[in-house]
Order: sequence, then C-alpha cells, then structure tokens
Amino acid sequence: MAVKSEKPFWKTKALSDLSQAEWESLCDGCGRCCLHKLRYEENNALAFTNVACRLLDTTGCRCRKYETRRQHVPDCVSLTPETLAEIDWLPPSCAYVRVATGQDLAWWHHLVSGDPNTVHSAGVSVQGRAVDERYAGPLEHHIVEWPGKRPRVKRPMPDAEPDTRTNPQE
Ligand code: SF4
Ligand code: SF4
Repeated sequence: MAVKSEKPFWKTKALSDLSQAEWESLCDGCGRCCLHKLRYEENNALAFTNVACRLLDTTGCRCRKYETRRQHVPDCVSLTPETLAEIDWLPPSCAYVRVATGQDLAWWHHLVSGDPNTVHSAGVSVQGRAVDERYAGPLEHHIVEWPGKRPRVKRPMPDAEPDTRTNPQE
C-alpha cells in the first residue's frame, strides 16, 4: 500500500510538477509584484516604486480582474516555472522565489498560517502603502526600496509556538 506523504506539496514536488491549483495557491497575495518598476536603459538598473497597477485592489492586495487581466493590462507578466527563472524583480519574500531557492514558506503564508490575512497583519503585503497608478503622477516621484527587500515582520502569529525560526525577522 502506498504511504501518503505528510509533507506539503511545495516541499515534495518540483515547481514544474505542480497542478494549476497548487501553483496558484502558492501566491501569498502580497501584491508586491503588482507595483511598477523602473528600468534604466543606460545601466539596466532596477528601481522599485510604491505605485500599483490600476487593477490591484490596494486594500485586499489581489488583482481585481485576475482571470481576464491580460485583456486590460497586456504587459502583465504571467508567472510560470520558466518565467520565474528569468525575472529579476520579484521580491525576496515572494513564495515562488522562496520555494524555487529551496526555502520554506514563511509562517505568515496562508498555506502555513491557514489565514489569508496574516500576509497583511505581518506587514508583508502592500496594504496601506501602495498608490493607485491612476492618481500617482510620475513614477519617478515614487521610488522606494522596500518592495525589493526582505520584509520586517510586524508581529508573530497569535498563539504561535515558541520561536525557533532561524531568521527571527520572519
Ligand atoms: S510577489 Fe509573489 S507571492 Fe506576492 S503576490 Fe506576487 S506572485 Fe504572489
Ligand atoms: S493586471 Fe493584475 S496581476 Fe497583473 S500587475 Fe495588474 S494587478 Fe497585478
């Protein structure tokens, strides 16, 4: 009789072997990838901004038209195992980046916490600090560093076990 693995799918399967539902569920809903970036032609340098794509719900931090987003925002990048390897602007906290680089999901990820709001309460999402592109003005006025940095988490999960994490910022 086959023994079912006790480990969650992101620890046992390659990203390229995930079902569509598993792949989609890996997204933590932080909304960081939906912030505009600037790429400087002269040196290919990247600058992050706090300006959100017009389809991002800046409170819930999810795309308001996810299924049909490419009809509205043709340059929205679809993440796949292949494109993931080519993109240099995903935040280090992104669940896809973490799993692709051999890290576990953080405690605030909904697949770990069981709560889709912990990404917000931990201060990882863009909630409360993203500006809608329709009202932002020039992107150059909104350059910030935090989307490209590892987030400093606001507080531990309520009723958490004693903290044994190797990176106490998480
Ligand atoms: S940065 Fe990664 S985890 Fe966060 S919303 Fe984008 S794809 Fe999802
Ligand atoms: S279209 Fe949706 S998924 Fe794409 S960048 Fe905009 S808000 Fe994010």
